[in-house]
Amino acid sequence: MTRITVAKGDGIGPEIMDATLEIILAAGAKLEIDEIEVGEKVYLAGNTAGIATESWETIRRNKVFLKAPITTPQGGGYKSLNVTTRKFLGLYSNVRPCMSLHPFVSTKHPVMDIVIVRENEEDLYAGIEHQQTDEVVQCLKLISRPGCEKIVRYAFEYAKQQNRKKVTCFTKDNIMKQTDGLFHQVFDEIAKEYPEIENEHWIIDIGAAKMAATPEFFDVIVMPNLYGDVLSDVAAQITGSVGLAGSANIGEECSMFEAIHGSAPRRAGQNIANPSGLLQGAIMMLTHIGQTEIAEKIQNAWLKTLEDGLHTYDIFKEGTSKQKLGTKEFAKAVISNLGQKPKILKAVSYATNSPLNLPRYKRKPAAKKELVGVDIFVHWNGSNPNELAAKVKRIESDELKLSMITNRGIKVWPDGFTETFCTDHWRCRFKPFENSSINKSSIIELLKNALNENIDSIKTENLYSFDGKAGYSLGQGQ
Ligand code: NAD
Repeated sequence: MTRITVAKGDGIGPEIMDATLEIILAAGAKLEIDEIEVGEKVYLAGNTAGIATESWETIRRNKVFLKAPITTPQGGGYKSLNVTTRKFLGLYSNVRPCMSLHPFVSTKHPVMDIVIVRENEEDLYAGIEHQQTDEVVQCLKLISRPGCEKIVRYAFEYAKQQNRKKVTCFTKDNIMKQTDGLFHQVFDEIAKEYPEIENEHWIIDIGAAKMAATPEFFDVIVMPNLYGDVLSDVAAQITGSVGLAGSANIGEECSMFEAIHGSAPRRAGQNIANPSGLLQGAIMMLTHIGQTEIAEKIQNAWLKTLEDGLHTYDIFKEGTSKQKLGTKEFAKAVISNLGQKPKILKAVSYATNSPLNLPRYKRKPAAKKELVGVDIFVHWNGSNPNELAAKVKRIESDELKLSMITNRGIKVWPDGFTETFCTDHWRCRFKPFENSSINKSSIIELLKNALNENIDSIKTENLYSFDGKAGYSLGQGQ
């Protein structure tokens, strides 16, 4: 018996969770269930976190969490509880298998069996955003070495356990040389430890296009958080429906299992949603907690049901499908197939599945870190960068001089182009005069000078070198 936490979530959540629980319990899953309330109802009752303290206690005690989708408002409003849960619990790895069920589920891609391993805790999902000027807002993209090492190793270990042949990495490191550059660098380092598994890297734009056009070319794909979020929806959708894929969120201590899709509010309360995505999540949960035989039995019954042409509306197609079923009826059909195997689709065996036991991250020795300059960001409503340069040069000190100004990353001084469009958000880079060494007081002096000169400094970024290597990007065009 394993004690798990269950949340029925919002929108179609309660319907697909009821269907999923009915199937897995009918299959003999040995579970004790603690149900908690999360999401919209909790927010509306006045809890801004969307979850009560006692519910966190339940999740942390049980360690295994089966969660239906939760509604998160767009633009403003409360933070995503999904992201908060993944990060609070250290669920660094998000595993999303997307497999074609040809010829029973209509797809343009008959041969497709991809697993997307998405980094789950960092990247732009740090959710650290600021408005600094009238015209410009920013979001911090944070990528860490532990984050990269953990997720890349997870992808290779997963490939090894599942007997998969290739791990592909997608990044945009031609543009984001520091952040995506680190992810790619760590991928290359760790790939060397797995010579038996093929590895490759694609720039995300062409990689995504290739994945959408020729998914049969890919096997396991590992990527940073945002790309993995977007592309796992694409991958699931091109197998036939976003409603077909499940997701395992794995951490060192806890785990959470869900569908990859959201709460689809427009489909709620109509008994039409496909419970397959959440069911796939639940099957991954059962293998994770060692109930592999039950997981196998459910997966084979599910495959048989799809093979029988019993389909929910999202995958129903005249000619391919036999009968359009509602959520509840689909669950009943899967239950009546328990113990059976698909005849044409490949029956599964999970005998070798067990949680991956990865080494904990060990912090590397610190590099030699040297302060080599500072970027001072300035809010200024003018339009001629030469005018700003003249103004900002007045705050130079004996140690630091203005070396460059950029606007949205493109160099506008010295030698800017008059064609470049400029906003009110300017980065002024200060570097030391030759032979002068600087420290934090040198920066404070600049900021004081800026105050005296009525220059609206909105933030600073210190420029460091690590073991002699520049830890900051150049200006575009520099
Ligand atoms: P969505 O994934 O909820 O739905 C998009 C569309 O996909 C639906 O309108 C429907 O046509 C189809 N669809 C999705 N799931 C289906 C299913 N099981 N069966 C049949 N069709 C299905 O995306 P959205 O509308 O952009 O998001 C709705 C809400 O869900 C938002 O508040 C969003 O923040 C949230 N969300 C939550 C999670 C999560 O809880 N992990 C994930 C993604 C989105």
